[in-house]
This record gives sequence, structure tokens and C-alpha cells, in this order.
Amino acid sequence: MKLSCAPSLDKREPADLIVLPFWQDASEGTHFKKIVGSAISSGDFKGKLGEGALFYLEKEKEPRLLLLGLGEKEKSMPESLRRAFSNAVKTAQGKKAKSVNIILPELKTLSKPELAQAVFEGILLTNYAFISLKGDSLKENPVVLLEKISFIGLDKKDLASLDEVETIARGVYLVRELVNGNADDVTPKMLADTAKSFEKTSPKIKTTIFDKKKLEQEGFGLILAVSRASSADPYLIQVSYKGAHRSKEHIVLVGKGVTYDTGGLSLKPTDNMLTMKCDMSGAATVLGAVQTAAALGLKVNVTALVPTVENAIGSRSYKLGDVYKSYSGKTVEINNTDAEGRLILADALSFAAKNLKPTCMIDIASLTGAAVVALGEELSALFANDESLSKDLLAASEKTGELIWRLPLHPGYKESLKSEIGDLINTSGRDAGSMKAALFLQEFTANVPWAHIDFAGPCYLTKPKYYNPVKGTGYGLRLFIDFLKKRSV
Ligand SMILES: [Zn+2]
Repeated sequence: MKLSCAPSLDKREPADLIVLPFWQDASEGTHFKKIVGSAISSGDFKGKLGEGALFYLEKEKEPRLLLLGLGEKEKSMPESLRRAFSNAVKTAQGKKAKSVNIILPELKTLSKPELAQAVFEGILLTNYAFISLKGDSLKENPVVLLEKISFIGLDKKDLASLDEVETIARGVYLVRELVNGNADDVTPKMLADTAKSFEKTSPKIKTTIFDKKKLEQEGFGLILAVSRASSADPYLIQVSYKGAHRSKEHIVLVGKGVTYDTGGLSLKPTDNMLTMKCDMSGAATVLGAVQTAAALGLKVNVTALVPTVENAIGSRSYKLGDVYKSYSGKTVEINNTDAEGRLILADALSFAAKNLKPTCMIDIASLTGAAVVALGEELSALFANDESLSKDLLAASEKTGELIWRLPLHPGYKESLKSEIGDLINTSGRDAGSMKAALFLQEFTANVPWAHIDFAGPCYLTKPKYYNPVKGTGYGLRLFIDFLKKRSV
């Protein structure tokens, strides 16, 4: 994105569109009164969040003006600004505009750079299209994205603060590309190769890959069981970024990497399988987060750990009723092969706890439909055995607008996970489904401070919402980056 600024309206350069923001029920606007005045004074335009009115201009530096509703000023937060300016991008895209002038609104609770960051973030998160699988329809109807933005009212010295926003947005795009790609292309091997390629982006990144042979030697019984029916080999991917040599803190982010989930022998019905290329969203998020942390040069030590498999169906499928031995030594009786995410995460968590000296572990996974039933598409479920970890993640959620809601790890339900012929069973009824999955994972955390985020709802959307596109959203990356910034030395 080409960025510039102008100190005042008369110093601006020409563009395809100018955005004039307007707070709800504000008594007057200062700019372009002749053009927008009657829309406001008639009460037709109130300035509500989500409202916009397009005007055509003559003898101005832009042919179009968008009067943009910002909502109530007293209630305004970075998130409402992100959403408001997301609407501006959608209008610009509808008119195939490539360059936009933006008059920055004013708000007492945010500094100019903070305000510009929120606006720019809303713009960049919206200014995205997944086009790599399009054919002829793209020629007939090309996607036009914004290429140039000028902020009117922003000081030149504050422009640099927007670089960080762009780096983070690039991380979000990477996650979306990985999630939206064909499952036949985004295989466990492809995720391993992508992680390996990160080493070229920073000397502080080191990638270690465990292939199938190594997984067999080391006894990753659950990862191997889940992957058995697939022609694609499983991997355990470890990407470490050491940005704080003197710090003892080591944060391990574990992401579920099921590149396609048929459910296995507990086969999913068609409708439930349609979205299952998204079952590696956790993997994409933690890989993107570590690469972005490195790109930002955060002073933090963080490792992404990704167990990655395809949960296919075939004559070699792992079996219902059989018992498999995990990396930790605990044995697990399988009563649903579609509850495979917790199995591969269990092996990864116990590997991390035993070998990586983590000061905390956070796993993120599209784990249970029960989390979607409880919290829908806008919130993720958070479970944690550590108060400070939970507090910092909730604070990051508040700041980034990537919403999480903490649910308990109720010990009374642990009993239901006991197996009569092994140590544990992998599922236990529909009630409290996301909590029981979390309690299952907790068995493999060796009491390390740990949090589990079940983002089965927000990681993949069936309709675009706010600045999130349809399908892969990249949700979770900004949450992790904000968390890592807080934990930086
Ligand atoms: Zn599944």
C-alpha cells in the first residue's frame, strides 16, 4: 500500500474517492458543507456505524465523496473505527477506486497515530481478495483493490507508526491464503515447506521438522494414528523465533494442522465436510504469528508447534474402540475418529512440555462444533489453567477486537473422560463438548501454564462480516501479536 499524508484539505493530491467521516448525530460538519449539508440537516444521514452516502463531485480533486457514519462518538473504540472504515473500502472497491483520500476524524480518547492505526487496520483487513483459484471469471470481473491512501490531517512523522499495521496485515493475509487454498495443495508437507521457508526471512528463525520416520521413532502414537489412512505423511513442525536472548521466557503456540478432516470412520455428512479444509486454521495462525513476530522484531522468544495430518478414510483408518498410545505414555480409547484434533494436539502439548522448556503454552484450534453452538461465529472459547495468561489474552482480545470468552475447566467432568480399557477416551457425549475437549488436552500439559483457544466459529465464515472476508478470516493472529508484544522484554 502506498501511504502518504497531507497536513490539510487544500494540500491533498488527486484521488478516486475522498472519505468524509461523520459522528452520529453530530450537529455540523466542517468540510464539503454545500455538498453533504442537506443530507445531514434533513436527517436522512445520521452517521450511524455502517451508514454511508456517496456523492459525485465537480471541480474537486476527487470525482466521488463518501460520507461515512462512525457511530456514537462517546462509545467509539478502535474496533468501531476498524468496522466503519471497512465500509469505506467496500464502497471504494464497488467503484473500482484505487486511490483514496481520508479525512481523519478526531477523538479525545485516542492519539492521532492510534486513531490512524485503527483506521488503517480496518482498511487493510478489508482490502483483500482470495483470487488464486479463479479462472475466466476474474478476466470478466477483475478484483480492484486499493493501492494508495492519503491521510489528511496526519503528521508525516506519524506515518511510520503505520508500518507495523501493514506487517501485521500481511501476516493475516498469509493465514487467509493458507486456509483458503485447496486441501490438495495445502498438505502437511506444504505446511512444513512453508515453515522451512521462514528461515530465509530472519536469521533468528529456526525450523525443525519431524517427518513420519522420526515421529515413529519418538512414539507420537496419536499423530500417527490419525494420519494412518491418508496418502499424505504427517509432520510435526517446530518454528522457533529467538528475539530475546537474555530472557528465560519461552512462549509455545501450538496450532491444530488437520489439512482436511473427513471425520475418518466416524465420517462427516456432506454439509459438515464442506468447510473442512479450514481445519488447519490453528496451524496457519501460529505459523503466521511467529513469522510476523520476527518481521516486527519483537523482543520475545516464541515457538510455533504444529502437528499436521490429514484425517482421511480408508482401509488403514484408525479404529473406533481401539486404544492408542500417546507420546506422553497415556493411552487413549477412540470412540469418535472425528475428535482427532485433540489427539494430535495432545501429542504436541506433551512434546512441548517435556522438551521445549516452555514458560507457557497456548494452543489454538478449530476444535469443536460445541464452541460454535455456545458462542457463535464472533467469539472463541478460552480455557486456561493460569490466571495471568488468561488475563493477558483477554486484554489482547479487547484491544484487537478478536473476541474470546473464558469458560471454566470444571474438574467434575474429568471423570467422564476415563476409559475402562485404556487411560482416557477421546470424547464423552455432546454436553459441555468444548469443555470436555479442553479437559482432555489438560491431561497432556504437565501443569505448565496453559491456555486453549477453540476458534471453530471465527476462523472461517460462510458470509463476510465487518472487515473479515468470507471463508478464512485470519482471526487469532492479531490477538497473538498483541499478546506477544505485552510479553516482550
Ligand atoms: Zn474432526
